[in-house]
Amino acid sequence: MSPLPTVVVHARGVARLRAGHPWVYRSDTAAVDGVPAGALVRVADERGKPLGSAFYSTASQIAVRLLSRQVLADEAAARPLLRERILAAADYRERVVRESNACRLVFSEADQLPGLIVDRYNDVLVVQALTQAMDREERVAAVVETLAERFHPAGVVVRADPRIRQLEQLPARESKAVVGDKTRTAITMNGVRFHHDALAGQKTGAFLDQRENYAAAAQYARGEALDVFCYQGGFALHLARVCSRVTGVDSSRPALEAAEENAALNPGAPEIEWMEANAFDLMKDYAAAGREYDTIVLDPPAFAKTRSALETALRGYKELNLRALKMLRPGGLLVTCSCSYHVSTAEFLAMLGSASQDAHRLLRIVETRGTAKDHPAVPTIPETSYLKCVLAVA
Ligand code: SAH
Repeated sequence: MSPLPTVVVHARGVARLRAGHPWVYRSDTAAVDGVPAGALVRVADERGKPLGSAFYSTASQIAVRLLSRQVLADEAAARPLLRERILAAADYRERVVRESNACRLVFSEADQLPGLIVDRYNDVLVVQALTQAMDREERVAAVVETLAERFHPAGVVVRADPRIRQLEQLPARESKAVVGDKTRTAITMNGVRFHHDALAGQKTGAFLDQRENYAAAAQYARGEALDVFCYQGGFALHLARVCSRVTGVDSSRPALEAAEENAALNPGAPEIEWMEANAFDLMKDYAAAGREYDTIVLDPPAFAKTRSALETALRGYKELNLRALKMLRPGGLLVTCSCSYHVSTAEFLAMLGSASQDAHRLLRIVETRGTAKDHPAVPTIPETSYLKCVLAVA
């Protein structure tokens, strides 16, 4: 086998790698010629000192994603490493995941498997390769082989996200089952059941990162509940076990249809009212109409996709949280989330403080939470901690 190509990294990139971050931006690399898309490369500093082995992308601004601080001899050496890392990731989930047969088995950089996401939905595994390197046929095959051996799943689906494939300049591809033929299943989280269809059009099924927050919310929720941005009913279905009435609001009709089917899987709970609406309009109308609730959940999509969108995002969060606080009965529970990486916990709490001032409410924070434990945060990789979920009594 031919030796691996070398990518030379400038001082700033070297410092980043030394600080424990696996990414090197293209602007921090010396010009590289002829390194194939998705190749395993050696990484060296300007003096030629080796820094490790990495996956290379010809398309992304993140040109290099470090795989190992060891210098691997050739392409073949990556295979046992992938296998070892996947098995370690699976062991970690076995230790930390409770009350669920669905979880994220592999969380990319947080498991030293840059570009690879694997989710387990009961007996169906869903693989996503997000980079040129992970998308290579032989690497996907190695991943799938290890997963099949460890989990004996009824189905393994390789999902293709058209937007990500375009960014990585990968050819368009359909999502497909590569092991077994099972692609639809049912999962149980915290005793609540959900359908999962690994080939469904809308993005991947559940928001597994919120799983433990659903249970936390149900611990303190009561009375009449409003779940805003409810998607397929993650919070709403958990709240239905402890609340007298639950309304779920989302702008996506397919998400609400899935939510309704999920509700049917959980008989015995009070019926949930699903409403198709723009959450901003609805919150404005409801607040103006003097509607009141005992529990309100706010789990909007990421408002700040870039650092420059921060100010606008914080205004959006504040508007929603202010309206929610105005609608909360005394002693009511607010569950408020942000999945924008660019909004820090401190900024989110400051926004919440400002909303509570404007609403003339004393907000007592019961818990400040993040992602479920199967989405571990790595302190040297800030991007791994993105979710904020604050439970507070007003
Ligand atoms: N709470 C959900 C996840 C919410 S994801 C769970 O735990 O599963 C964000 C949701 O917001 C998506 O379902 C999306 O359809 C919805 N959404 C985005 N913009 C919206 C808007 N303006 N009004 C209402 N819903 C919106």
